[in-house]
Amino acid sequence: MDVSEPRRTTDVPTLLVKIFGKDRPGITAGLFDTLAAYSVDVIDIEQVVTRGRIVLCALVAAPPGGAAAEGDLRATVHSWADSVRLQAEIISGTGDNRPRGSGRSHVTVLGNPLTAESTSAIAAGITASGGNIDRIFRLAKYPVTAVEFAVSGVGTEALRTTLAPTGASLGVDVAVVSAGLHRRAQRLVVMDVDSTLIQDEVIELFAAHAGCEAEVAEVTARAMRGELDFEESLHARVALLAGLDASVVDKVRADVRLTPGARTLIRTLKRLGYQVGVVSGGFTQVTDALQERLGLDFASANTLEIVDGRLTGRVVGEIVDRAGKARLLRRFAAEAGVPLAQTVAIGDGANDLDMLNAAGLGVAFNAKPVVREAAHTAVNVPFLDTVLYLLGITREEVEAADGEGGESGDPSGGGESPESVEVPETPTSGGTREALGAPEGGRSRESGGSRYQDA
Ligand SMILES: [Mg+2]
Repeated sequence: MDVSEPRRTTDVPTLLVKIFGKDRPGITAGLFDTLAAYSVDVIDIEQVVTRGRIVLCALVAAPPGGAAAEGDLRATVHSWADSVRLQAEIISGTGDNRPRGSGRSHVTVLGNPLTAESTSAIAAGITASGGNIDRIFRLAKYPVTAVEFAVSGVGTEALRTTLAPTGASLGVDVAVVSAGLHRRAQRLVVMDVDSTLIQDEVIELFAAHAGCEAEVAEVTARAMRGELDFEESLHARVALLAGLDASVVDKVRADVRLTPGARTLIRTLKRLGYQVGVVSGGFTQVTDALQERLGLDFASANTLEIVDGRLTGRVVGEIVDRAGKARLLRRFAAEAGVPLAQTVAIGDGANDLDMLNAAGLGVAFNAKPVVREAAHTAVNVPFLDTVLYLLGITREEVEAADGEGGESGDPSGGGESPESVEVPETPTSGGTREALGAPEGGRSRESGGSRYQDA
């Protein structure tokens, strides 16, 4: 063959060789060694191992020599498979895989648990929107089950429109992001602080010390629901703190509780070379401490005025409100040298909406309904590190990086148990009995959110 002309595989006879059975070392080498005797070219290979069972598919050109050679190849592959107690199926056809349709998306589904019913509904939704599922794989089993569908043939927006109500009605998180190189290039993550990076609303922590918690909480809730102008509500709430001793700042810093998964998220992003920042409608008196504690690249918030050792009930400087947060995202992106399209913003309140919409990917995190509906994607499980799954990062990668970094992950989150618990095959079982009722190692240890602590 003339090397200047690439060989076309569209109409050449091909064989799809599928091997299935108990995984053990040497299967892939064994199959291709068997095929090598027929001088066939490899067009595609896919292999997955699920709970110790391998599915290996090889698409190869049919051997030269016509039907006789193909018959010989089939017999040899089956004989090899029998010798290693695997099942083989060989299907004749022509050409390569069907080209994937235009429009590529990643659909990430987070379930706790992920039910068969939800999985069926999501898959049906993808089909109904005109999409094709090209691949499915698990990103994580902890702290939630996260599965990614690679979908083609439908636009990201159309897919999102179809799947968002499905996810909401089923109580699972469904995130649709467009595929492509930009997903690997997202390089700046900017988070809200109150009820996002931390579990608390900082002004409520101050209010608790000032004895006006209930009044402040009510105003905060109304502001976050979008019923009050943020700046107006900020001034009203801060005024309630007038006269408070400045020593309260240290107490509030000590009161702050990080959201589960926050450290894992930030540590992993930093290892991947991301820059990470926070923007807060809360106060620099707290965010500066968080920036230092977590090694954040950027932090911006409002500043409580303190005069003669007491809070004055005023804030000083530029107010970080809804528009301010979006402005800061742009500023951080410019300083980081990252195009806005390659930024990720995470927040829960109405004052985060402009920032979420301005970012390349806006993630509503356990957000108020008004925010959830307007954001690109929503996460409603209370673990911040699940955002990593939306970026296509697997739990395995997170844990491997923790291992290499010599740093244990979340204290209660390490230590994998053996995955595979199968009923041993006996001659009378015919080799087909599966461990349907057998306990999966580690499952019981994962139940409940309380073992997941990040502090
Ligand atoms: Mg918030």
